[in-house]
Amino acid sequence: MSKLKDREIKTAYDIQTKANIFFRPFDQRVESIKKLTKWIKSNEDEIKTSIKLDFKKPDIEIELTEIWICIKEADLIIKNLKKWMKPKKIAKTLTLITTKSYIQKNPKGKILIISPWNYPFQLTIMPLLAAIAAGNSVFLKPSEKTPNVSNLIKKMASEIFSPKDVVVFEGGKDTVNTLLKHDFDHIMYTGGIEVGQLIMQNAAKTLTPVTLELGGKCPVVVDKDVNLDRAAQKIIYYKFMNAGQTCVAPDYILVDSSVCDEFKAYCVKYIKRMYGDSELIKNNPDYCRIVNDEHFERLFNKLEESLNSGDKVIFGGDYDSNKSYFSPTLISSKMSSHIMKEEIFGPILPIIQVEQIEDAIENINSKDAPLAAYIFTNNKSKVNYFIGNIKSGAICINDLTLHLVHSHLPFGGVGKSGIGRYHGKFGFDEFSNEIPILKNINNSPLMLLYPPYTKRVRKIVNLVRKLF
Ligand code: NAD
Repeated sequence: MSKLKDREIKTAYDIQTKANIFFRPFDQRVESIKKLTKWIKSNEDEIKTSIKLDFKKPDIEIELTEIWICIKEADLIIKNLKKWMKPKKIAKTLTLITTKSYIQKNPKGKILIISPWNYPFQLTIMPLLAAIAAGNSVFLKPSEKTPNVSNLIKKMASEIFSPKDVVVFEGGKDTVNTLLKHDFDHIMYTGGIEVGQLIMQNAAKTLTPVTLELGGKCPVVVDKDVNLDRAAQKIIYYKFMNAGQTCVAPDYILVDSSVCDEFKAYCVKYIKRMYGDSELIKNNPDYCRIVNDEHFERLFNKLEESLNSGDKVIFGGDYDSNKSYFSPTLISSKMSSHIMKEEIFGPILPIIQVEQIEDAIENINSKDAPLAAYIFTNNKSKVNYFIGNIKSGAICINDLTLHLVHSHLPFGGVGKSGIGRYHGKFGFDEFSNEIPILKNINNSPLMLLYPPYTKRVRKIVNLVRKLF
């Protein structure tokens, strides 16, 4: 880490510390969010170009998952911020009858946001919007694995924000480590589990609260009592969007053995319908590429080891490292397979047969809690059984991933898939300190309880304890 960057971080930190002495009022927060929305709308082409330079995502996927979602979040905040900021009146209690109380949401201060490469724009801008809404100043550290997007985010911040409010530092782990030398008021990290643990260990030194948006193996249960064609269509869409490099993408399928072959055939049908035959997919711009060689190799090794342990390819298994191309790949697998150890985070989908719903739940709960769990069934009691027994950050029934798009649902993991929640009001709350405020009258009757503890005080205490 260069001494210059070290100094730049320290200078920005001091500037924001000074600027945070007074809280940012409503108008200033809304103005910042409007500026950000305007910038996104007028720089859509630059956003698309830089994402494509980092890795080839289809235009439609960029528009929906990187741009539209941020604009929608900004609109929601602008519409609701006044209401969210309004102190919440709290009912009186009998013992404190002369008081008035409310809860106020105050900014936390300086927020450090560390984001990953897979949705490099969205996963930096969504937490930024929430942090601004809550009145904070922000340090952004986008991923070094998507340098063009990181650079564009830095340019954006310099064009529309003062360093008093938002600064961007590019770079990898060295930059993170330098940033972590400073005492932030909250750290939000999105990425893999191991680095999440490092961030939390570091934050513990200064008792800094954290939001950790991590990963995991998101399971899908497919029951026999469901429209298999529709289930396969949805699963294939959400698995192979962004070439499986999505934290809430289905990681593996547990399908009722009586319909397994039929389900596999539907999956193949939808891969071909969405992306074409094996040869066509290779050149299809609607199919995303793998972000870099390191991840390509990771996926290659995963598939090799899975096949060596007895798994069989149902579809795909092709790749071209020169083009960062890894085909949509379906494999017949088992819970003990090598591929079931860690999150796949790429376009390989293991399909595993199960005999009954209880087996599916046992298999899922034998692993760390995922970010999302999915079930396809028309059987209400199976839905209830699933909801009642699965430990997961979220649950979606007869669809996938949509909970992430719903502005009024909290987003986040449990256990190893993360700590904390954001999106919509949940993001505003995450970056706010909830402050209880109480006001009393001058001549409070509670003063009758003060020393000296005379017989009169004793009588009042006895009465209070009897009545309340
Ligand atoms: P990444 O490699 O881009 O790392 C994320 C951030 O951590 C980057 O800014 C990087 O610079 C920093 N970093 C990396 N190594 C570090 C180290 N040793 N010390 C300090 N900082 C370090 O992204 P990734 O980790 O490959 O992201 C993929 C993971 O993120 C997957 O597990 C995925 O499921 C998860 N993810 C979760 C969510 C969510 O919302 N929960 C969203 C996207 C991705």
